[in-house]
Amino acid sequence: MTPEATALLLQGGEELGLDLVPHVEAFTRLLALLQEGAAQTNLTALRDERDIVLKHFVDSLTCLRGGWLDRDGRVLDLGTGAGFPALPLAIVRPELRLVPVDATAKKIAFVTRTAAALGLENVTPLTARAETLGRDPEHRGRYDRVVTRAVASLPALAELALPLLRAGGVLVAQKGPISAEELDAGRLAATEVGGEVRAVDAFALPVLGEARTLVIVEKTATTPERYPRREGVPARKPLF
Ligand code: SAM
Repeated sequence: MTPEATALLLQGGEELGLDLVPHVEAFTRLLALLQEGAAQTNLTALRDERDIVLKHFVDSLTCLRGGWLDRDGRVLDLGTGAGFPALPLAIVRPELRLVPVDATAKKIAFVTRTAAALGLENVTPLTARAETLGRDPEHRGRYDRVVTRAVASLPALAELALPLLRAGGVLVAQKGPISAEELDAGRLAATEVGGEVRAVDAFALPVLGEARTLVIVEKTATTPERYPRREGVPARKPLF
């Protein structure tokens, strides 16, 4: 990693209250693996070092705002893609047991190779659709947290994530700016699937200043058996 990119990583961390100095080596390796992987396949649109550091690494770590992921526990990353936010979270929070999930096998193959190369024993990637896991007794109600970045609208996320959470578990949904309409629809959908929106944290991405929002949904009741609906339906026909 260039000195400029390292400085941006540390500055981004500082703005989030994180000391990333002990993790520079791991992020340097992750950057190299990501660039290598991106050259071979269409893993991520971001190629530039500065963009990867700020828009993947620091952006993923913003999920730690508010302390919702501070307890140890099982955390499913819904729609992890090339491993975001799961891999940065696994580096900085070794006490979390992360399960990055994606429907695309190629992406999970990359996350698996990368976690092994980084020696991240707290990462267990899984190729699956969230709808399938949500109906599988081995996964339904088994997670303390679900984290997700840039995957679907809030109503779809509520339907996909809440079935996977144990009672009292929490969905941490990281998004760009969120409209009042999406938030209202998300609140209604959350109630329908057994959850309540606990917090909406609007903030600026460190260094770049782009708008981001963390929406926190707590599982407060049992999810009705009929949710999640079958593959593709939660996103295509959101509940509200
Ligand atoms: N979270 C990553 C990030 O922030 O870089 C990837 C975001 S990418 C825009 C969305 C990813 O979610 C895709 O890799 C897609 O395969 C996955 N995805 C979408 N719906 C899904 C579902 N229902 N179950 C599992 N994965 C899903």
